Amino acid sequence: MLPLLYIIDCIIVQVTSKKSYDGKSVLSVIPFKESHYKLLSVLEEQNEINIWNEIRRNASVDIMIDQYNKSSWIKLFNSLDMKPVVTIDNVQKLLNSEEKMLNIQSRSGIRSVTDTYLTFNEIGSSLARRNVFIDCGIHAREWISPATCLFFINEFLTQYSAGGNAKQIMDTYKLHIVPVLNPDGYAYTHSKDRMWRKNRKPVGSNCYGVDLNRNFGYMWNTGGSSASPCSETYHGGSPMSENEAKAMQSYMTGKTWDSYLTFHSYGQWWFTNWGYTDTLPPQYTELVNKAKIGADALKSVNGRSYTIGSSAVLLYVASGGSEDWTRGTLNIKYSYCLELPPTGGSGFILPTNEIKKVGAETFKGICEYLKAI
Ligand SMILES: [Zn+2]
Repeated sequence: MLPLLYIIDCIIVQVTSKKSYDGKSVLSVIPFKESHYKLLSVLEEQNEINIWNEIRRNASVDIMIDQYNKSSWIKLFNSLDMKPVVTIDNVQKLLNSEEKMLNIQSRSGIRSVTDTYLTFNEIGSSLARRNVFIDCGIHAREWISPATCLFFINEFLTQYSAGGNAKQIMDTYKLHIVPVLNPDGYAYTHSKDRMWRKNRKPVGSNCYGVDLNRNFGYMWNTGGSSASPCSETYHGGSPMSENEAKAMQSYMTGKTWDSYLTFHSYGQWWFTNWGYTDTLPPQYTELVNKAKIGADALKSVNGRSYTIGSSAVLLYVASGGSEDWTRGTLNIKYSYCLELPPTGGSGFILPTNEIKKVGAETFKGICEYLKAI
């Protein structure tokens, strides 16, 4: 009897234990030299730090570090004039309050993002002739992204009969929405490790996961991604090696698309192409102008501003992104990547009372944008 009990106990422990971020802090630093970018890349590659919001030029980069080493990190970054500031002292404490909130909501029957494992949704009226592809949740820990896609779906389905934006957009467009493009990773962030970013494929060396947003097959592995399977930005063994990317490829190839929108968090950016190079894409001014229509409408709801421009110029080169593939390979001119709120602070751990606010403002923004293209 004892061995059986032991086994059951182990299973229960395995199922319920989550990775703890006790003793982890987040520092915001500002890299402004090539050597700073290199340093951050190397530190991430060696798993010394975990970069939350992508390396970028002359703007703050949030890095998760060990709390016990905090003063050494601060000393190091101060000596490089990178202006370190502690934005989260104890990540686990923030996660505990997030989990507490989710538990309260689920007990009281409030629908939360935790019950979502939907795959493809196609929404549109019979009048619709144009096609838009929208995906959320490529990166597992960016929870506000799937929540925002679900908000869109709910809004389009429940507000159509009321007329207004939902009707106008659905009479024009068929909307193909993937609320969670990385379902294994997303489930893992709920069950085991809230800060997981990649998918969950075993990739050797006791490491898991490919960064799906470095795996797409246009200008793959040409900068800003890693060949090391343990890295957070591992680009995979070959372009489009991952099932999630392949599924998108087989669904999208051969159809005509008027726009592609991919939602990440965080930073409040509305990115045009390219990610792989800081050379601007053709029709760049027009792309910025259309994005501005969306960003202005978005801002009119809650006052939140987005910065618009090429991601490689505003941040740093990153190849293998889905929006570069939709532009470069599928030739979808209006391919954009949006980084949802916040700009910094709690980062991925955005309080649940922000879900509706972010949903409503982003819905307004994309509706006005879609009317303009
Ligand atoms: Zn992301």
